Amino acid sequence: MTSTALMPTYARAPVAFERGTGAYLYGADGRRYLDFAAGIAVDILGHAHPHLVSALTDQAQLLWHVSNLYEIPQQTRYAERLVAACFADAAFFCNTGAEAVEGAIKMARRAQAQAGKVERYRTITVEGAFHGRTLATISAAGNPKYLEGFGPPVDGFDHVAFGNLNELRNAIGSETGAILIEPVQGEGGIRPLPADYLRGVRAAADEFGLVLIFDEVQCGFGRTGKLFAHEHSGVTPDVMAVAKGIAGGFPCGGILATRAVADAMAPGTHATTFGGNPLAMAVANATLDVLLGNGFLENVAHAGQQLMSALGDLADRYPDLVAEVRGQGLMLGLRLTDRATNVAFGTKAMEHGLLLVPAGQNVVRMVPPLIIGEPEVAAAVEIVDQVCRELSQSDG
Ligand SMILES: *Cc1c(COP(=O)(O)O)cnc(C)c1O
Repeated sequence: MTSTALMPTYARAPVAFERGTGAYLYGADGRRYLDFAAGIAVDILGHAHPHLVSALTDQAQLLWHVSNLYEIPQQTRYAERLVAACFADAAFFCNTGAEAVEGAIKMARRAQAQAGKVERYRTITVEGAFHGRTLATISAAGNPKYLEGFGPPVDGFDHVAFGNLNELRNAIGSETGAILIEPVQGEGGIRPLPADYLRGVRAAADEFGLVLIFDEVQCGFGRTGKLFAHEHSGVTPDVMAVAKGIAGGFPCGGILATRAVADAMAPGTHATTFGGNPLAMAVANATLDVLLGNGFLENVAHAGQQLMSALGDLADRYPDLVAEVRGQGLMLGLRLTDRATNVAFGTKAMEHGLLLVPAGQNVVRMVPPLIIGEPEVAAAVEIVDQVCRELSQSDG
């Protein structure tokens, strides 16, 4: 089905979807699928959410794009609302996660340079993280699989082991200017960094005058049951990259920063043509209306607990197959034993009408729309149970 007119970068599942409502997608094959992939943790309000549809269509009648040569009131308003809801003092809008992370790295370097420490251009990063697919972000993450064949990695990144504070502190040198951390690793296998580790990282950043960057591209925007995942630890960054869920499926990214960092970015220091255009900002504002609505995040936390506890029961019942359940809120992972691959698990789940996403360390990732409740949790768990039963009975 995949045409040779498309580059062969993706191994696509042989299904195309025609429409969606809420947590369900409808395939061209006439089947209905419960969507616990959500476009890879993007469609946080599910499909065809009426508030987003009307925000998008209303704005589409008026104005799509003008560029940042001019005032964009929707962008100003969205920045003010977002800044009021988190640690940051100022925002910059772009289009994708990788662009947000790369911009955040630039801002950290620029802040050091403006403070007279131009030599502090290096960034410490954590093994297992994913930061995007540009040359700098694949170099930042350091995953050999994504670097292979693309020439020498971009200079300026030092990688340390997951969750090891001593190693991180020892890696700080006279050229270190920033630390970049994904508070809950998503692609790497749904691995939350412990709160006391994040507190230790914050202390090290303060002690050595480093800019702390969080990559909340996947774990942000309500995914873990708080607006941003770092709120669970009480630790705030100096800069944060966001994207994925920010506009419920409309392409958009953002960089949030404290005043000290933002003030290093004078006119002309960074830019993007499409970033923060009226169409994206209309949908981002509408998404935020729902996220900040009464009880929304509490419901995410509640649904997450239900799903986590049901998956824990399955792990107990299928110990030969499920090694561990981990994650936070509605960002959960089942780490499988070597009895089955996460890809085989996902293929079987799809046959039964449930969409999942594989992640690193043989983890099956569940990142459903944040609007789900008990019926969707129960329906997903029933299918996961069936897949576990079938994979446990097959010859491993
Ligand atoms: C998906 C992701 C990115 C990259 O986002 P793109 O929009 O694909 O560029 C960066 N960081 C994290 C944590 C992600 O999950």
